Amino acid sequence: MLNQEYLFLLLGLASMLAIILLALTLLMKLHQLKQLNQTVLYLKKSLEEMDEQAKLIVRTDLELNKTQEELDKRINGLYALQRISQDLSKTLNQEEIFDRINQEHIREIGFQKAVVFTKKAVEKPYLSHQIGFNEEFAKHIEDEFSRENFYDIIKEKNHAFSSVSKAPELQKIIKAIVTITKLDSFIISPISQKDGFYGFILLSSLSDEIPLTEGDQELVSILATQIGQALENAELFEAVYSQHQELEKKVIERTKELSGALSELKAVSKRKTDFVSAVSHELRTPLTSIKGYASILLSEKLGLLPQEIKERLDKINKHSDELAHLVNDLLDIAQIESGRFTMKLEPLDIKHSAQTVIDLLNPQLRERSIGVQVNLPPKLSFALADKTQIQRVFINLIGNAIKFVPEKTGTINISAFESSGGIQINISDNGIGMSHNDTENIFNEFYRVDNVINQKVKGTGLGLTLVKNIIQAHQGKIWVESRINQGSTFSFTLPISKEIPAAS
Ligand code: ADP
Repeated sequence: MLNQEYLFLLLGLASMLAIILLALTLLMKLHQLKQLNQTVLYLKKSLEEMDEQAKLIVRTDLELNKTQEELDKRINGLYALQRISQDLSKTLNQEEIFDRINQEHIREIGFQKAVVFTKKAVEKPYLSHQIGFNEEFAKHIEDEFSRENFYDIIKEKNHAFSSVSKAPELQKIIKAIVTITKLDSFIISPISQKDGFYGFILLSSLSDEIPLTEGDQELVSILATQIGQALENAELFEAVYSQHQELEKKVIERTKELSGALSELKAVSKRKTDFVSAVSHELRTPLTSIKGYASILLSEKLGLLPQEIKERLDKINKHSDELAHLVNDLLDIAQIESGRFTMKLEPLDIKHSAQTVIDLLNPQLRERSIGVQVNLPPKLSFALADKTQIQRVFINLIGNAIKFVPEKTGTINISAFESSGGIQINISDNGIGMSHNDTENIFNEFYRVDNVINQKVKGTGLGLTLVKNIIQAHQGKIWVESRINQGSTFSFTLPISKEIPAAS
């Protein structure tokens, strides 16, 4: 009995244990189920998020594609514009500029038809170019635009707008343009120049289905700027060219006038030279006979003469000499000027020529106690010159110096040097000098300075003219530098002889 009770008790305990175990297992399962549920929820949420992200990626991709397309279109448009710009810059002719904007060009930037309105001096722009319209329709557009006075609105707006522009002030004109041009999709851009509004360009898009963008508007603006610049350059060129033509015409006219005046001057100068030459020639013969008769009478071969007559005859002789001198100078000047003067050019020793003249003038130098210094470089080249004529030059220049330096303290200095331009010879004195005005004129025929010495000593005013002509006939130059009461320096140049005389 007791065993049975134990058995029941044991059974009872075992059942309770089993129940507890079962309950525990159930509890664990329940916990696991809850965890599973949470995981499922988390996964579901993640899935939803992933779906959202996938949608976003697709959307972004689509947008990116669209932007890329737009970008490609703009890049292609810009390339096309660059080509148009290069093409336009190749000409400076207005008509050619328009010819260079053709259908192919505007197609490249995404447009089909175009009209260009420009103005010159006239107030209103006129139709200057059209693409894709027949002439009659283009004319109709021009007339209607003019009638509706669109130019002022476009000018006022001052930048590009399109058929899809939303600006309220443009709605009326957009509607009217659609009606007139029968174009649903277009862009208008003003053409501006430095002086302001110059016209405008209207382009219609390739297809009504492709909507116009900001980018298209920018392309048309750039094209309008390019056209404006090309037309401005052409106008400037035309202005410069016509000014140049005008100038050239004037230069030709003036040259013609001047060469006419020059030939007239040459003819007058020739007549003068011929006249002087003829008169001098004619004077020489009677002068020679006057001098001859005076000499015969003075020799008293025809009978003795009273002292008084002899004195008069002496004067006749002296004056005849002066006159003969003058006539000879005149004749030489005339001959050099007319080119009939023949010179014997040979290698000339300047030092020798100067010394010969100094020796010749020695009596005058001694009479007035004037010193002469000759400072020539020992190795001075030979000049290519006519000996007799250069001696005449020295006689005149040294003779003048003797005349205008003071007695006793007067000095004359002769120097020379060589340069690439030839040999330069300077004859300086410490005489009375002359004013700037006189130095400008003393080489002119018959010019004599009004000073005390000239009032006393006779002269012709021909010596320096002759000297100048002789030097110029040698392709040389002559000039003077002088200061009143300080002295004068006469300088002249002569070409260097390439040959050296055999005797030297
Ligand atoms: P002329 O000696 O017959 O007057 P020239 O033609 O030789 O004519 O000279 C013109 C003028 O130039 C002279 O009258 C003189 O007034 C001025 N002249 C020339 N040489 C000198 C000089 N060395 N110093 C000052 N004046 C001079």
